[in-house]
Amino acid sequence: AAPPAADAIADGPTFSFELYPPRNDAAAAALQVSLGPLVAAGPEFISVTYGANGSSRGVSLDVLRHLLRNTDVKPMAHLTCVGSSYAEASRLIREFLDAGVTSFLALRGDPPAGVEEGDVFLGDLRSAGELVQLIHRVQAERVPFVQVPIPGFPGARRLASGEKVTIAVAAFPNGHPRSRSIEQDLDTLLAKEAAGANLAISQLFFEADEFLGFVDRARAAGVTMRILPGIMPVLSAARLHRIVELSGETLPAMLLRDLEAADDPATVGIEHASRLAARLLDGGASGLHLYTFNRHEAPLAVLGAVGLLDPARTPA
Ligand code: FAD
Repeated sequence: AAPPAADAIADGPTFSFELYPPRNDAAAAALQVSLGPLVAAGPEFISVTYGANGSSRGVSLDVLRHLLRNTDVKPMAHLTCVGSSYAEASRLIREFLDAGVTSFLALRGDPPAGVEEGDVFLGDLRSAGELVQLIHRVQAERVPFVQVPIPGFPGARRLASGEKVTIAVAAFPNGHPRSRSIEQDLDTLLAKEAAGANLAISQLFFEADEFLGFVDRARAAGVTMRILPGIMPVLSAARLHRIVELSGETLPAMLLRDLEAADDPATVGIEHASRLAARLLDGGASGLHLYTFNRHEAPLAVLGAVGLLDPARTPA
């Protein structure tokens, strides 16, 4: 039988937000201001990024604890494993579980500058899939293992923690810069699901077909977990140049031209992201994951434009 189409979900499309840990007191105060409307909108979860090589561990945890204590929104912790020993990574996972976090985005992370693939400084865990397995293993110290089927591998079983943890992983609709082929990206995603991931969140992209085509190919390859599109409203040409440089995506020439020509580039960026979001939902995406840059205006404007905001929950 064909694997279930995991993209349609019962309650209709969801939305979720990504935050980053604030780097100073002024940024923390600004985040406080934006968190109110983001939380009030009622997202499925809010994820908090993790600075390269653990640089933000304490601040990321503070934001996650704030969400746990003061809101009813499920917090999701990004974790990276590059450069960590098994013992260090296990300790880190235990610390987040102890804080009450049960939702993770497991990433391998980028090697620090100057470190090559295969270098000992890259640590014990070679891929995000190994971190997914380790999270299940550490969680199972608390709640015993159960056997669960492996999607795409009929009859096969793997051990999973008895209590449900959400373990999301990254997906790359246009290919990861280090990957040699789209097949390699699909194999990596399939391996992450086989390791126990139950949600994928995509790298940003600029055309709906890039994401929808990737989901089709992933389903054909046997991936059954939900794949959420990551959407970044880009509010200036300078920001577009920066995110293209960081993500390795191809510069979208038309969007760049429109941002450069506009008197009000923020409006152009929001309209572009809203059109993208609408096409994704029309194409069957089960939700939208919005990169917020710790601001609420643009992500809420996009959700409003596609009709996903309950007016009763939206600030004036
Ligand atoms: P993997 O899945 O292990 O690998 C990624 C891809 O690279 C795969 O397609 C794989 O096939 C290919 N690949 C891996 N190793 C090799 C190799 N040796 N040769 C050839 N190809 C290879 N980074 C942070 O530091 N903190 C964050 O909070 C964070 N959040 C993110 C959130 C999202 C939604 C996304 C998409 C990315 C995020 N990143 C973050 C960036 C991420 O760490 C990098 O993209 C990293 O390069 C890949 O991590 P991964 O978990 O996808 O790794």
